[in-house]
Amino acid sequence: MKVSLPDLAAMKRFGREIAEALRPGDVVALTGGLGAGKTTIARAIIAGLGHQGEVPSPSFAIVELYEPPSVRLPLVHADFYRLSRPEEAEEIGLDDYREGAALIAEWPDHAGGFAHEPGCLSISLEVLDDGRMAIVEGGDDWLGRMPQ
Ligand code: ADP
Ligand code: MG
Repeated sequence: MKVSLPDLAAMKRFGREIAEALRPGDVVALTGGLGAGKTTIARAIIAGLGHQGEVPSPSFAIVELYEPPSVRLPLVHADFYRLSRPEEAEEIGLDDYREGAALIAEWPDHAGGFAHEPGCLSISLEVLDDGRMAIVEGGDDWLGRMPQ
């Protein structure tokens, strides 16, 4: 499925749709180069889950954890850009963070990739002259949950 995201308002709407469909254990894998809009989508999802206020980019901390009651469900926002080996995801305790939580992963390929996990929604962002294009892939279950 392709989704046209011409401006920031469209990014916010799209993120909110994902937030409404998100369940514990899900993975949202965000790919695309630097500046493609991965953190922008992540922020919109986190806001859609109820978080108010700033959402720092996790590029330095690698993971940021959001927990109820400020969000509807526990969520890990990770940016794996700085991992030099996929095994480091395990070393920083990612599996512990993920227990019962949903995961939004920027640069998932640096952490071994999550695209083949059940419940993974994969969003690949392309920069256009005017905004962004998202190529969205997920299991039947995921795509059935998203507005067409
Ligand atoms: P990434 O996390 O992929 O490196 P960011 O989410 O930080 O990228 O976005 C980089 C810049 O692109 C930001 O300044 C953001 O406002 C802008 N941007 C994101 N989505 C869009 C869009 N659909 N149209 C125009 N600008 C956008
Ligand atoms: Mg980013």
